Amino acid sequence: MTAARPAPSVNPAINPLADASFMDAVVAGAARLTPEQGLRILRDMPLADLGMWADLRCREVHGDHIRTYVIDRNINYTNICTAKCTFCAFRRDAEDHDSYTLSYESILHKIEELVAIGGTQILMQGGMNPELPLSWYLELLREIKRRFPNVHVHAFSPPEFVEFVNFFDPPGDTYEAKVRGIMRQLKDAGLDSVPGGGGEIFAPAVRSKIGLGKCTAEAWLTTMYVAHELGMNTSSTMMFGHIEGHADRVHHMELTRQWQDRAIADFATQDGGRYKAFISWPFQRENTPLGRAKEWGQGGAGAGAAAADDLSQPFPGDVVAKLDGSGTKEAHPEFGRRVRMAGATEYLRTQALSRLYLDNIHSIGASWVTMGPHVGQVGLRFGANDMGSVMMEENVVSSAGTVHCLNEPVICRLIRDAGFLPAQRNNAYNLLKVHDGPTSPDLMVKDWSELRAKPMHQEAPRGAGSASASKTANAVPLTVTARTAAVGAHTAANSSITPPPVMPAKI
Ligand code: SF4
Repeated sequence: MTAARPAPSVNPAINPLADASFMDAVVAGAARLTPEQGLRILRDMPLADLGMWADLRCREVHGDHIRTYVIDRNINYTNICTAKCTFCAFRRDAEDHDSYTLSYESILHKIEELVAIGGTQILMQGGMNPELPLSWYLELLREIKRRFPNVHVHAFSPPEFVEFVNFFDPPGDTYEAKVRGIMRQLKDAGLDSVPGGGGEIFAPAVRSKIGLGKCTAEAWLTTMYVAHELGMNTSSTMMFGHIEGHADRVHHMELTRQWQDRAIADFATQDGGRYKAFISWPFQRENTPLGRAKEWGQGGAGAGAAAADDLSQPFPGDVVAKLDGSGTKEAHPEFGRRVRMAGATEYLRTQALSRLYLDNIHSIGASWVTMGPHVGQVGLRFGANDMGSVMMEENVVSSAGTVHCLNEPVICRLIRDAGFLPAQRNNAYNLLKVHDGPTSPDLMVKDWSELRAKPMHQEAPRGAGSASASKTANAVPLTVTARTAAVGAHTAANSSITPPPVMPAKI
């Protein structure tokens, strides 16, 4: 019997920037960062030092050799949504000409194509479509499991569950009881795990500004707690680089860590689930209402105001943000009217901190789709152990202007060039194939010019009519172009890769 691991020590008095022995203990899992220490690291630790500590912690957890990816397919079953998140370019109203809801036939066909190229899971999320009854979801899951019993169904993020409770009004005195009833039915029908979409930033001041009608952090976290109780694994996500302050990011990680502690304590002896991964990515602004906000440092906000922001003053989000999440918008008149977009170093800093801070979460994903594959590759040296998904289509982030996409040989090469062995994993992070031989997808490529990134497939091209809201439809045919000769058994579609769940919604 394995002895219980001692709880990590906490010493708020230590300056993590000046005490290497403390950071050694953090790397070993023997010391835990406080929110104040996390904020200090995020703001002030030199980038190279931060990367080094995060890499050491990652090696402590995952070893020195293997870094992973998964092959799955992102199926966005509907873009009709009752929420109006200001960072979203994907949603449509039911009456919009390019709204759609996929038919069962279309969804099953997509899974068939995924299985044909060796994919192992689907990530299925959608807008909050009030026209779909619970039976639509239950029958869909049953049919998926009947046709594809080995495909892992990673579906329905917390905001969708919140809307299920609102739409279907199940019995129960509390939100927790209601969502438990619905989640049980979905699990029995075939749901395997719950993606962490809609995490965004948990702090109420930020959340109420960017997610109009979106679920509260408490509802989000409670939904995941119930999933863990029912034995399902989940992920946690964070979208940063908009109106939030640095303290908001640390607060977000702190809540994730606390609720993971709680899940482990409450459900470890009953095969409970837990957060298996944390993935953070920078906000993408194209085609989004929030993206029209001025970037910090680019001039005044009022009509005719041209004066540049005074960059000697703190960013409004930093004025508002508090480490305990108690910040209020009244603390700065320009809060929510300025965005501070995250570049490569900000992305790497945030990801590296998540590796050090979240000492109870197994996987940190390199969510490189928004920053470009080579920044993501560097992310493998900044605490990430996983490159995310080689995917066959993506509709959400690509709506906001992201165009990076990769296929299996390229993702393997990125991992190998970063100094690691690439390995395909499943949803539980078990290794399926370690690519250590000459038949590895990347090592079989003779001509890399054939493997340049292709435009992402989208379900409904913007501006082009597709399925209407009043009927479910097959939407736009897939444009999967399987490669064959060059990569042999590791044939993959002209795939795209995306950060995990970017599908928030409302309560
Ligand atoms: S992010 Fe999700 S919940 Fe928010 S508007 Fe877009 S589709 Fe709806």
